[in-house]
Amino acid sequence: MVRTAFIIIFALLIATLLICGLASWRSEKPIGKAVCLLCISLIPPVLGNMIIIAATTKAVAYVGCYIYYIGMDFVMFALIRFTDKYCRYQVGTRRKKYSVPIWINHLLGLDVLQLLLNIAFGHAFVLSEIEAYGKPYFIMTPLLGQTFHRIICYGAMALTIIVFIIKSIQVPRLYKERYIVILISMIIGTMWQTFYIFSRTPIDRSMVGFAVFGLLIYYFSMHYRPLRLLDNMLADIINDTSVAVLLYGPEGRCIWANEPAKELTGRKSDEPEGISAALESLFGEIKSLPDDQDTEITRGIADSEKSYMIARGGFKDRSGKDLGSYVRVRDITQEKKRIEAEMYAANHDALTGLYNKEYTYKKINDQLKLHTLDNFYIATIHLCDFKVFNDVFGHEFGDAALKQVADWMSKYSDDNCIYGRIAGDRFGSCLPKNMMVEELLESDLAHFTVKLGDIEQNLTVHLGFCDVDEDVQDAAVLFDRAYIALDSIKDDYRRHVAFFDKKIRDKMIWNQEISAQLDNAIAQNQIIPYLQPIADNSGKIVGAEALVRWIHPVNGFMSPGDFIPLFEENGMIAELDKHIWRSACKILSSWEKKYPGIFISVNVSPKDFYMTDVYGEITSYVQEYGINPHNLRIEVTESSMMRDTDDRMKVLEDFRNDGFIVEMDDFGSGYSSLNMLKDMPVDVLKIDMKFLGKSNDEQKANIIVKNVIRLSEDLCIVSLAEGVETAENFDQLNGLGCDLFQGYYFSKPVPQADFEAMLDKERGNA
Ligand code: C2E
Ligand code: CA
Ligand code: CA
Repeated sequence: MVRTAFIIIFALLIATLLICGLASWRSEKPIGKAVCLLCISLIPPVLGNMIIIAATTKAVAYVGCYIYYIGMDFVMFALIRFTDKYCRYQVGTRRKKYSVPIWINHLLGLDVLQLLLNIAFGHAFVLSEIEAYGKPYFIMTPLLGQTFHRIICYGAMALTIIVFIIKSIQVPRLYKERYIVILISMIIGTMWQTFYIFSRTPIDRSMVGFAVFGLLIYYFSMHYRPLRLLDNMLADIINDTSVAVLLYGPEGRCIWANEPAKELTGRKSDEPEGISAALESLFGEIKSLPDDQDTEITRGIADSEKSYMIARGGFKDRSGKDLGSYVRVRDITQEKKRIEAEMYAANHDALTGLYNKEYTYKKINDQLKLHTLDNFYIATIHLCDFKVFNDVFGHEFGDAALKQVADWMSKYSDDNCIYGRIAGDRFGSCLPKNMMVEELLESDLAHFTVKLGDIEQNLTVHLGFCDVDEDVQDAAVLFDRAYIALDSIKDDYRRHVAFFDKKIRDKMIWNQEISAQLDNAIAQNQIIPYLQPIADNSGKIVGAEALVRWIHPVNGFMSPGDFIPLFEENGMIAELDKHIWRSACKILSSWEKKYPGIFISVNVSPKDFYMTDVYGEITSYVQEYGINPHNLRIEVTESSMMRDTDDRMKVLEDFRNDGFIVEMDDFGSGYSSLNMLKDMPVDVLKIDMKFLGKSNDEQKANIIVKNVIRLSEDLCIVSLAEGVETAENFDQLNGLGCDLFQGYYFSKPVPQADFEAMLDKERGNA
């Protein structure tokens, strides 16, 4: 009866272990397989014992014994694997430190072998029959092999226990219980079994311990979460945040408050209700705040002002029963300050503290959309030659200048104005018209001085204004207009204030129109060279200068002054010049036979050097029309040579080497440098008479011209006088030794046919 009861109990134990084994096998936890192996490994010893209990013959009892003893080796093997995983994974310690050495597995294997050999040699144990509970029971007598088996198993067990002991000492207190419980169960289990082994009491009840052990292992590995740990961790997290948290029970009593809540209310005691009361005295009744919503509250004034975000909410269980509520208070003072500082930095110019370009434009655009800028001006303030100023006086002084201009602007502005720094050397403002007093600004700007320490320096500041045009919705366009207005005072040192008026507006439109028409005009031959004769000292025509004219279908006859400055500015001059160079070559090729030796000079603008390959283009036309380069003269101005002088000299040299004649145009009108002349690879010097024309002191002018002519003689450069208008001019210059002459005295620039007629007449061909 007792034995049957034990058989049933053992069967239940086996079933329990099987279930734990299967459940851990299915688990996705890394330790799952090791737990499964251990649970399953515990089955054979229980099964073996069950067989021993049930055995009615010795042979069956032997089978039970073998299953039991070999099963124990299997248990040890699985326990070692489990220990390895359990003690390693949880805290992440390195494998080597806690691993049970691998050779133990070899010993376990050896033990299995020697136990099996007992069948043949009988060296490990023998069974003898006794009576227990009124039935025969087969009891084991250990021999040498069994002693070996025990040493191995106890040894393995001891090692495992040592690993668990070390582990439970080393892990943090919170984790200790998951090691200590297993440790204790291992020790109790071992002792319990030892009792049965050595006392040789029939029916090994310690097998119950095996199942309990299996269950414990299963629970601690697969399901155990230290609740205290969770509690402590959550409390830690809540204490670590800067957010004050208070928890209330369902009846509304404060049951817990974290550290920041204590700090916020300045309470020393841990008493939650006191902290809650202090919080209410700070922020008023908190219950009335809306559920689960942040509410911003500000306390204190000026510098000591602090901002808080307060929220309250409730907890409910699944059935909707009230579990309590919380209040959360976050100090957002710093956050707000940081956001404000970031906004400020994003919208302001760091140096002057004024709005930056983007923000100025945005503010103005916003107002434009609202149409609130009736009777407003847009003004741009330009620091003339500021780059040079910076370079000459240093950046520190430059910064001081910018700050002073910014201060000056602020002085002239009020709350109705929107103003800021819109470029390195430009400021912008949108101001009511009545705030603008031109005379006042002019007198202020006439002597704008920058001061830094002992240094004082004048700075030219220009102001451009334009009306706020309600049709324009873009501040950038208005600022461009105000800036364009500045062009009108560029060369007038007395004026500092300019308006974008109708004249400038029309000019702008004109510029746009004729720029758009250039390509078409060239294609349709509206743009043609006129020729102005050049004569030698006997008055005989020896060549001509090609001067562009635009015979416009709507505007009629247009002189270069109407469009050349614009094209020089926007770079389109290169297109125009290429056309004139090509036209000149074409004319020369038609003259090859008719007027051999008559030359044409073409103008090369300084901008051409940037926009195109001057040498390449001209030589390609010369080749195209097969003309003699000697008949094509290249006119360059001094200003062309001001930049990249070496490169330009090289181009001129190339022209001369190819047989072209190079002329220096408008000598005397620009930054003439006699010094430069001696190095310049030119053949002809065109002396600009305009600069002498207005001179009151004719004698002085004469002396200058005389000396320029003499100098060119010395340098073996041919001199050509431009602007010869009268016979008197001609005689006088002739007397001074000038070689060539050009001017209205001979002829104005005329169409090709007229020029040819002139040549024919001179030669008596007409
Ligand atoms: P520039 O090269 O100095 O040309 C001489 C200018 O003086 C021409 O004016 C000519 O008509 C004018 N002129 C000639 N003789 C006299 C005179 O006796 N008295 C006075 N008062 N003026 C005289 P234009 O044709 O109006 O050309 C003006 C400027 O436009 C030229 O000055 C030149 O710099 C530029 N230009 C003309 N055609 C071209 C061209 O095809 N390409 C380039 N890049 N510039 C050109
Ligand atoms: Ca010229
Ligand atoms: Ca000239």
